[in-house]
Amino acid sequence: MAERRKLIAGNWKMNGLKADGLELASDLAGRLKGAGAVAFDMLVCPPFPLLFPVGEAITDSPLALGGQDCAPKLSGAHTGDVSPQMLKDAGCSFVILGHSERRQDHGETDAAVKAKAEAAIGQGLVAIICVGETEAQREAGQAEAVVGAQVAGSLPAGANAATVVIAYEPVWAIGTGKTATPADVAAMHGFIRAELAKALGDADAVRILYGGSVKPGNAAELMSTADVDGALVGGASLKADDFWAIGTSCR
Ligand code: PEP
Repeated sequence: MAERRKLIAGNWKMNGLKADGLELASDLAGRLKGAGAVAFDMLVCPPFPLLFPVGEAITDSPLALGGQDCAPKLSGAHTGDVSPQMLKDAGCSFVILGHSERRQDHGETDAAVKAKAEAAIGQGLVAIICVGETEAQREAGQAEAVVGAQVAGSLPAGANAATVVIAYEPVWAIGTGKTATPADVAAMHGFIRAELAKALGDADAVRILYGGSVKPGNAAELMSTADVDGALVGGASLKADDFWAIGTSCR
């Protein structure tokens, strides 16, 4: 079985001003440097205006930087958009794509997510592609069908374990305090890996993150669940102590 190093990714969403972001990122960067060898990679994804200052503050640390979205194009007449080239320029190595909030609030389709992922990978970024069913879809027994279609429709041709990460985030668990049971998470992650194997040669090496109300209190159980290769964390990534505790729960 492929060795998959855990990835603990913080999605700050639309939270924090420059001073807050610098304090949080510098705190985490300092802990990572001081900790020496750890069992996880750590990533923060601040809002766009904070990418440059945060990127500069963490350059000499192992803390990675990512965007929360990007355009499918590199430049041009696209008011309000941010290109993957610009993310790279700010020091990013990752970008979150197809988060359920973007799928809901901005009508992003699988095809749009795929186009963004292709552009991001073309610039050397790792695309964290988010998938997940709503509560109604789960109750209707459609969770696997929905997630399978999202994986198939959002994954760029030629993707591999070095260029994509999948984040399984049941929509009903995001920011609600509800988490999927470890058994449900293991079942869905196993299903996603089988779906990936239909499209990729190295599906066994692709990291599949779980996201949805991950906190210090549930992290150790979730992170030791089969086929869980890390976490995409919203609320708890805004507190250095909580986010660090999620990281150090990885064994
Ligand atoms: C997220 O935004 O990706 C997320 C999982 O949020 P939370 O951890 O707050 O549920």
